[in-house]
Amino acid sequence: MPVSVVWFRQDLRLADHVPLQKAVQSGLPLAFVWVEDPRWSLQESLGFPRIGPHRRQFFAGCLAALDRELERGGHALHVLRGEPAEVIPAWLERLGGGQVFAHREPGTEEAAQEAALERVLPVDWAWGKTLVDPADLPMPVTDLPRIFTDFRRKAEAVVGRSPVLPAPDLSAIPAAPLVPTEALAAWPVVGGAGSGGPGAGAQAQGRLVAYMADGGPIIRYRETRDALMGEDSSSRLSPWLASGTLSAREVNAALVAHEERCGSSEHTKWFRMELLWRDFFQLVALQQGRRLFLRRGFAGRSTVASGAASETARARFDAWRAGTTGQPLVDAAMHELAATGWLTNRARQLAAWYLARTLEVPWTWGARWFSSCLIDDDVASNWGNWAYLAGVGNDPRPDRHFDLAWQTARHDPDGAYRRAWGTWAEPG
Ligand SMILES: Cc1cc2nc3c(=O)[nH]c(=O)nc-3n(C[C@H](O)[C@H](O)[C@H](O)COP(=O)(O)OP(=O)(O)OC[C@H]3O[C@@H](n4cnc5c(N)ncnc54)[C@H](O)[C@@H]3O)c2cc1C
Repeated sequence: MPVSVVWFRQDLRLADHVPLQKAVQSGLPLAFVWVEDPRWSLQESLGFPRIGPHRRQFFAGCLAALDRELERGGHALHVLRGEPAEVIPAWLERLGGGQVFAHREPGTEEAAQEAALERVLPVDWAWGKTLVDPADLPMPVTDLPRIFTDFRRKAEAVVGRSPVLPAPDLSAIPAAPLVPTEALAAWPVVGGAGSGGPGAGAQAQGRLVAYMADGGPIIRYRETRDALMGEDSSSRLSPWLASGTLSAREVNAALVAHEERCGSSEHTKWFRMELLWRDFFQLVALQQGRRLFLRRGFAGRSTVASGAASETARARFDAWRAGTTGQPLVDAAMHELAATGWLTNRARQLAAWYLARTLEVPWTWGARWFSSCLIDDDVASNWGNWAYLAGVGNDPRPDRHFDLAWQTARHDPDGAYRRAWGTWAEPG
């Protein structure tokens, strides 16, 4: 008997999941699969793993949480390894054939996998990455405004049009027969992801509820979001948004519920704007395709084209990565990143700008290092923000300058951050 397969990608959740809803509606037995991309085990040519230990561990925690949820409903998560277009059809044949339901992803490698899979199997695709459904916007993604503010005005008008879908009751739906596949246990899942970062996937809902509670940290968001330290200075929901454990619509629904109980404020509005920044970069990635990854960027500018000579660039890059540039704030940030897989937005901005604009190292190298380390690595947000800061993306002020002495005085006036990350002692 044919089955309906849900292929999980960066959408490791059961609620607000259109492919899952459609698979349930098909009335066929369900099978669930996650495919480990062999590229995940590769080394970057720059000499570090493509997926570093913190990122791998956090994602494994989210996978394990999903597996447990499926188990509670009498189902199982199958784990395959290889090219999806090869391993999914072979596995599906053992199950008796059927149709695949999946979300599209914005990255180019992911898009290539989608194209390859649909050449060999019927696939029902959905888009679930953003708060705003691109179909609700008044322009196609190809005509996305270049500047965020122009996008935001259009997006705000359609936020909340598509409702959050509840998780289906899987216990009422037959499971496809179990076919032995790689054990999820091959993925080490151990506790949290380091002192600075959030823990494993099962905590996502708890964090969302706590952050948006009456009197919760959201009520100070606009004032605290730029702080370099403090678990509650910003939501720290990005790792769960990146793995798709939470959808942007679920996060916005919790924000709306908070506003209904406590009123809207500059803080809640600012938070929603950040979710729209996320949307913007997701759609920029779709719009730009492989141009997102070009060193000269997609803005058609050559601000960083000269750059440092390659050996100098390499030495500077290694010092930046190791946190030995001699610029204390940047060095502290790089230590925090390596130790925890996490950095606040302000620390990311300063570290990225410094590499690209002061050290004149190719920004694409920095994007790769962030991608290896960050537990919230997201191809669109990472590369879009890097291009922006390097002056070759969507920044309307591509010659933006960060005065690091000023930034240090403003964001780390007493040296607490620099001391915490081991680079600085009070003079005298
Ligand atoms: C160089 C650089 C690289 C980055 N790489 C990533 C990445 O790989 N993955 C990632 O999720 N974010 C990335 N960001 C964006 C941002 O730094 C993080 O989303 C944010 O720090 C996450 O913390 P938070 O969840 O507490 O954010 P909050 O301040 O609580 O914001 C709420 C949510 O809004 C979204 N958001 C906030 N700021 C941005 C932004 N500038 N761009 C896109 N979305 C945003 C995130 O989903 C975040 O969880 C990067 C920023 C820079 C400057």
